[in-house]
Amino acid sequence: MEQESSKADLNQLKEVAHMNMLKAYAPYSKFLVGAAILGDDKRIYGGCNVENAAYPEGMCAEASAISAMIAGGVTIIEKICVISQSEKIVSPCGGCRQKIREFSTEDTKVFLFNLRGSFKVFSVEELLPFSFSEFDDLAKH
Ligand code: ZN
Repeated sequence: MEQESSKADLNQLKEVAHMNMLKAYAPYSKFLVGAAILGDDKRIYGGCNVENAAYPEGMCAEASAISAMIAGGVTIIEKICVISQSEKIVSPCGGCRQKIREFSTEDTKVFLFNLRGSFKVFSVEELLPFSFSEFDDLAKH
């Protein structure tokens, strides 16, 4: 039963990430990305990539979802789901791995989807080993 409900959770998270992906502002790369975070308040926070004519000013979907979570008063990511329009499973950039790490615990799970619904799941330690942090919880493991 527990597994059933976490499957439903993941599906819902993926749906929110997908909805956000469709709203992405990516006129330059045309590469739409959506993200959804399940915070430790059990609410879902979505984000999408937002590009800019001055390219480095663009924002990744993961960073955008983190902003929404922080604005919601939450600082712990239980799960984060990222999806792109690609046939390939999307992979967060190095900067986003560090941003996710800031709000993660050893239990945080990162679900990376392709457009067909295939996914891989990682811990933050797997995505960003020996990471920099003010708080040491991940480094202990
Ligand atoms: Zn990124």
